[in-house]
Amino acid sequence: MPIADAHLPLLIRGARLHAPEPLGEGDLLLAGGRIIAVGGRIEPGAGFGHREIDGRGLIACPGFVDSLVHLSGGGGEGGFHTRTRALRAEDALDAGVTSLIGALGTDDVTRSHADLLACARALAAHGLSAWCLSGSYRVPVRTLTGSLRDDLVLVPDFIGVGEIAIADHRGSQPDVAELARIAADARVGGMLAGKRGTVLVHVGDGAEGLALLHAVCEHHAVPPGQFHPTHVNRRAALLEQGLAWLARGGSVDLTTSTTPDLIEAGDVPAAAALAQLLGKGADARRITLSSDGQASLPDFDADGELRGLAEASVASLHAAVVDAVQAHGVGLADALACAGANAADVWGLPRKGRLGPGADADVLLLDPDDLAIRTVVAAGRVHRPGGGQR
Ligand code: ZN
Repeated sequence: MPIADAHLPLLIRGARLHAPEPLGEGDLLLAGGRIIAVGGRIEPGAGFGHREIDGRGLIACPGFVDSLVHLSGGGGEGGFHTRTRALRAEDALDAGVTSLIGALGTDDVTRSHADLLACARALAAHGLSAWCLSGSYRVPVRTLTGSLRDDLVLVPDFIGVGEIAIADHRGSQPDVAELARIAADARVGGMLAGKRGTVLVHVGDGAEGLALLHAVCEHHAVPPGQFHPTHVNRRAALLEQGLAWLARGGSVDLTTSTTPDLIEAGDVPAAAALAQLLGKGADARRITLSSDGQASLPDFDADGELRGLAEASVASLHAAVVDAVQAHGVGLADALACAGANAADVWGLPRKGRLGPGADADVLLLDPDDLAIRTVVAAGRVHRPGGGQR
């Protein structure tokens, strides 16, 4: 049996299955890039070889879906020398992130959607699934084809728009009508192409917070579910606003990458923020965690002088899941859903974030004691963190 052949069916034996809801102990059969069978004892058919992994004593869960990664690099807000590098496939695989939503941020001048698309497709060569968002912080929106709606209708990789910045001095200060138009264009473009056309909204430090989103939904025929506001844990008052937005039927995204300085300045770590929202009765299914990977984070020295900008890491997503479960009492199924199934729902990716027949073959094997990632399967390819693909 040639174990190196990544195309052979892969049987994971006897793992504790989390779909993300617990399914008990059982086998998992993957073939042709999809999950074929889940649970019980599975005997693959005779006549063809297969690969086998011993999953006994390990948790098997869906690969993480990261709702915001600056795939082609970000930063640049401190001058050209502060631009961050593009994401490496190895970093995502090591972090258990098998699906990524790529976006531009502040810099849509030296960063382009064509480059973003190329970076997404390069990741696909490693078994990762990556999509792109049209637009950037700026409005009127920058696009690939010249039109937001055309991007969504004509380019399969483009599934939404963002990060559109609100309540931030780095944004274009869109008004209610302008934001409504963006949401409507994304919604209709998405409808025509069978996509959700979600608008990822970067929420800045401004005290107005989510007020603009409420105003759009009050004055225009835009449902709250069209928007997905991110960085909602950047301060306690905004997190409270997030609770009201959830109660209205919206969804929120919590940013997992942070620094001691940002926490000092009011940032609520994502795991704590998630526990707070759940403790106040929020619907766990409409909360997602994202890394904001490759964004720039300020790095201050002991005297408070800006030393430079560090890169946000995709690994912060897994760290937040572990922290939520181990330090904040969030149930494993809820934490996994926030890093997978919920994001898949927000972006309209039905084959992602779940262990079920027909889902994509993206699976993590976790140590049940510390939730460390032992094995990552991306599109059926087996990756050992730190140990490469085979
Ligand atoms: Zn942002």
